[in-house]
Amino acid sequence: MAAEIVSLIDKYREFLPVDLNTKIVSLGEGDTPLVKATSLPAALGFPKLNLYFKLEGLNPTGSFKDRGMTLAITKAVEDKATGVICASTGNTSASAAAFSAKAGLACFVLLPYGYVALGKVAQAIHYGAKLIQVKGNFDRALELVKEISADCGVTIVNSLNPFRLEGQKTAAFEVVEELGNAPDYLCIPVGNAGNISAYRRGFKLFHELGRTPSAPKMHGFEAAGSAPMVHGKIVENPETLATAIRIGNPVSWKEADLAAKESGGKIDCVTDEEILDAYKWLGAKEGVFCEPSSAASLAGLIKHLKEGIIPGDAEVVCVLTGNGLKDPETPQKINAVNLDPVEADLSALKKVMGF
Ligand SMILES: *Cc1c(COP(=O)(O)O)cnc(C)c1O
Repeated sequence: MAAEIVSLIDKYREFLPVDLNTKIVSLGEGDTPLVKATSLPAALGFPKLNLYFKLEGLNPTGSFKDRGMTLAITKAVEDKATGVICASTGNTSASAAAFSAKAGLACFVLLPYGYVALGKVAQAIHYGAKLIQVKGNFDRALELVKEISADCGVTIVNSLNPFRLEGQKTAAFEVVEELGNAPDYLCIPVGNAGNISAYRRGFKLFHELGRTPSAPKMHGFEAAGSAPMVHGKIVENPETLATAIRIGNPVSWKEADLAAKESGGKIDCVTDEEILDAYKWLGAKEGVFCEPSSAASLAGLIKHLKEGIIPGDAEVVCVLTGNGLKDPETPQKINAVNLDPVEADLSALKKVMGF
């Protein structure tokens, strides 16, 4: 007999806003691997570092967004919503569309004007969402989302939806259960700052319940060209190749600020170059393919190790938020790839292989 499959909401039911009658919409999200780094600590010059990666790209639609979306869609169904809506060009739309398909709910995705890179919304298309391009920028699209949701009974599933962060906090529970304690530090990319806030909620709760004697210091990293929290002001035209964290005015700014301060951590930023270095190292030294945005966590850790802000013998978890396959072109762009054909014989082959 097959083992019983327990959804993330089922497993952590007592900590989530559901009751026994709630019909859960699940795609098998959560329970993602926590993998120990093997060669990076020594390669970075910190051989005593205890480093782990939380591989959130292994969620059903390839990012941590699924943890919040399972709960947001479950509650939308329970509240008899006529459909769900989000303004998004990335992982939120992929996740919203998948869980809506599973629930049999209509899903509308508003794309800001001029948005033509269909590859990024391939998942949303495939899961049957209705894509609508509006003649306005992202902020205008989000305003419309708010207006239409009040008007037509469609539920917003952007991160203003309160259930998103509640579902996302389960990742912290998993880290504690896997390690048997809370790590000293959690390093995480920061865009709308929801995820860092959600992890803090999870760690704080387990600490308060006495499940861990401590809670980790939260170190969040914005991209340098898109760092409103670091500079203390809204960025009008955020720029970075890490598109998932290209956010100029984070929704969860205040809660994330508190998460860092209360835990004894810090919000900082890393350059695109530092992000790409970390991204390459993850692939070549650890066999991990994450989105460039995700590598901001490792880039930030490296920065704080070098500055002595994080000690070299600490236990650290880096959250790798999304799957590298979402962004298949970056590896070719940043690596020297030579595909000139060689003669189809053994000696030519041996030569290019270096034997
Ligand atoms: C959404 C997202 C982020 C940013 O998370 P926030 O909660 O907005 O701070 C980072 N990485 C990936 C891959 C994402 O999809």
